[in-house]
Amino acid sequence: MYENPDGVMIGLEVHVQLNKLKTKIFCGCATDYHKDPPNSHVCPVCLGLPGSLPVINKKAVEAAIKVGLALNCRIEEYTQFYRKNYYYPDLPKGFQISQYDFPIASKGQIIIEGEDGELIVRITRAHLEEDPGRLVHEGTIDRSKYTLIDYNRSGMALLEIVSDPDLRSPKEARRYLDKLRNILEYLDVFDGDLEGALRVDANISIMGGQRAEIKNISSHKGAERALLFEIVRQKNVVRRGGVVVQETRHFDEAREITLSMRTKEEAHDYRYFPEPDLMPLKVSGWAPEIKETLPELPDARRMRFIKQYGITDDQAKSLTGELVWADYYEQVLKIYENEYGEKLDPKFAAAWINDYLKGEMNYRGSTLTYAVGKVSHHLIWHEYTVAILGLLKHEKITDDNAVIIFRNLLDSPRGGSDWRPVKKAADSAENYVMRILEEKGLLKVEGDIVETAAFEAINENPQAVADYKAGKEKALNSLVGAVMKKTKGGADARKVREILLVKLG
Ligand SMILES: [Zn+2]
Repeated sequence: MYENPDGVMIGLEVHVQLNKLKTKIFCGCATDYHKDPPNSHVCPVCLGLPGSLPVINKKAVEAAIKVGLALNCRIEEYTQFYRKNYYYPDLPKGFQISQYDFPIASKGQIIIEGEDGELIVRITRAHLEEDPGRLVHEGTIDRSKYTLIDYNRSGMALLEIVSDPDLRSPKEARRYLDKLRNILEYLDVFDGDLEGALRVDANISIMGGQRAEIKNISSHKGAERALLFEIVRQKNVVRRGGVVVQETRHFDEAREITLSMRTKEEAHDYRYFPEPDLMPLKVSGWAPEIKETLPELPDARRMRFIKQYGITDDQAKSLTGELVWADYYEQVLKIYENEYGEKLDPKFAAAWINDYLKGEMNYRGSTLTYAVGKVSHHLIWHEYTVAILGLLKHEKITDDNAVIIFRNLLDSPRGGSDWRPVKKAADSAENYVMRILEEKGLLKVEGDIVETAAFEAINENPQAVADYKAGKEKALNSLVGAVMKKTKGGADARKVREILLVKLG
């Protein structure tokens, strides 16, 4: 049982940009502004000019319902937009179109891995709103000399997903965010790699204190660090005999501290009232049809991986925990079968793709896919992995050599992504792999050469042979080493050991 000694309670408000939509939520401006100059994707509606009128983007409502369903929420029968009034330079019309009563979805849940096993985190609600513009502070927010404003972001469809305060540690908060991001990527409504795609406000309190709200944390890692800092700060306040007051704080990512901004505002400070320019939407009838389009979600895919491929729970969790890796794994299996006309052992593939390749990339801090302009590339195309696993399976290369080829691909400036084989994919990838091995003098040595080397090693090392025969198991290792040296590392160490054992009788 997790004791939660400080009585930490964390609730998260996650702002998710539905950035896979083509247009903004209330106007026709295109959403692919990330590579374009500031203030180039704007119109009278998203600039909030007087007299302009919003028109709801049906696709945004559908995407919100899709997310709501995936989070096991109840979809409201009617949904209504409200004006949330406040003045800030990122919001030129003086109010944000958001939701208040009648949010689009409510009462859902996400299951995460908590401190002591599965934890159900309740979703209070999920509602649609428009994203404000982006303020770019020169320096840090509390000391900047001037601030620039970019309205490209203004009017992007934002889904605010609010959780109950069910999270009990910064680690659980991070896992919740990882899981949420994972689900959103499966739903194909969201690209988490784009700037500003996911922003978090965190409410946190410790036993006996009021809650502080930490605003605008821009990443899941930032959330964990901000919460860690905030717990220490609140405990220190209590230790000095003070009282933790309800307030809004800002997380300074560079300094990894939170700063007081203002006392917390209440809902009535925003003077919410129904948006007169948008009719209430009857959406209850939409849900069944959208439900039909829901893809296989991470938990379901994980269970299927375990059942269908016989891989471990950890492997399945790791692979399905990132959509690109889950897809990569299944594509490699499929391409392999097409190319070789036989099935690849899924456990063998998981050991290489998950345990080795994903581990190696994590260690290097690289990601499997990256974007060039608007096109997504794989750092190591599937065909390489298919070819390497094929060569391994047919015992043409050793495990060590496979590692060398993968590292060679990862070490080249853009990994193995410069070259993608088109026709006879595995064939040409296989040639490429063999060429690397040949250049490095690592081609696997044939059986009789190994036999000869083993024979020589035994003749040249009588002491080691005598030691081994006298019961010193370790002496065998030096003989294996001698053979490996003779074959320039091209022999399979396991096979060498077997051959030596036979010869030593
Ligand atoms: Zn616009």
